[in-house]
Amino acid sequence: MSLHYPFTDLPPAGQRFKVADGVYWLRFPLPFALDHINLWLLEDLHGWVIVDTGLGVRRSREIWQQLLSDQLDGKPVTRIIVTHYHPDHLGMAGWLQQHCQAPVILSQGEWQLATAICEASDSQTIERFKGFLGSHGLRGDKLDKVAGKGNGFRRVVMPMPQAPEFVGAGDRLSINGENWRIHIGRGHAPEHLCLYREHDQVLISGDQVLPTISSNLMVRPTDPQADPVTAFVDSLLAIREALPAQTLVLPAHGLPFRGLHERINDLAAHHDSQLEQVLDACRHQPCNAHDILPVLFDRTLDVQQLMFAMGESIAHLNCLAGQGRVHREQRDGLWLFAA
Ligand SMILES: [Zn+2]
Repeated sequence: MSLHYPFTDLPPAGQRFKVADGVYWLRFPLPFALDHINLWLLEDLHGWVIVDTGLGVRRSREIWQQLLSDQLDGKPVTRIIVTHYHPDHLGMAGWLQQHCQAPVILSQGEWQLATAICEASDSQTIERFKGFLGSHGLRGDKLDKVAGKGNGFRRVVMPMPQAPEFVGAGDRLSINGENWRIHIGRGHAPEHLCLYREHDQVLISGDQVLPTISSNLMVRPTDPQADPVTAFVDSLLAIREALPAQTLVLPAHGLPFRGLHERINDLAAHHDSQLEQVLDACRHQPCNAHDILPVLFDRTLDVQQLMFAMGESIAHLNCLAGQGRVHREQRDGLWLFAA
């Protein structure tokens, strides 16, 4: 069965669009191949709750200034919830917190990672990525470009929010007198918040469940043996178990949809098939993560996509190594995976 999209008209930047009782869709532009992000505005008893905040750039600030002045019916922002640490979600949280005098809520896992990434100096960031991606086969000019010019994260997440409040698995947030239950996604981010409203089956899924693209699963230099593929699929299967098939899913990219179970099944199958293809390549000859790129991606990749793709390639190799289906060894400073 295919997914059902109940809303196909996109809300223009700076305007809200109602998708459920007291739930409004905001769509912000992004200056990447993935050209937009969906944020959500929830009616609260005496104001509004914002879920996700947009990339920390001038264009987002201009859109927020317009929204805050004419889309909130003169009511204040009461809370700012951030699903996960990525800059298109967290980027404007600090600015909104200062501007609206509202608390920021996220998970401890996301906060710890965001803080650690922010704290690294420009040269530390470059060295870490160069060392890590170099050891996985990325070389020369490509490596220099992907390793970047410094701490790019900090430039689009400034200021960081102050003294956030933490929530985690199973917690409930009362918004407008309704319970929103927290479900945790993993793999794309360490402790990604998904918010579920039981009474009318609405799920704000962030990047954990997307309708048409698979969420990027990236191994980071600070946790080089991580297995985000297993973490991602296992947390998705737990969400499928916990939530009904007819749930209205509000994703951070793409259109709101129904068909949560089908989508999770498809994503699990997609990663299974990717693992099989990577395994097959490693059967022919020992491979590094860079060798695997054409197996996983059949398109040309820009610099940002190349970084994500390398992360994804390492993620699938680590998963196979964790399952004992390939074995990992370092030769001349290069990680090789053989079946
Ligand atoms: Zn993300």
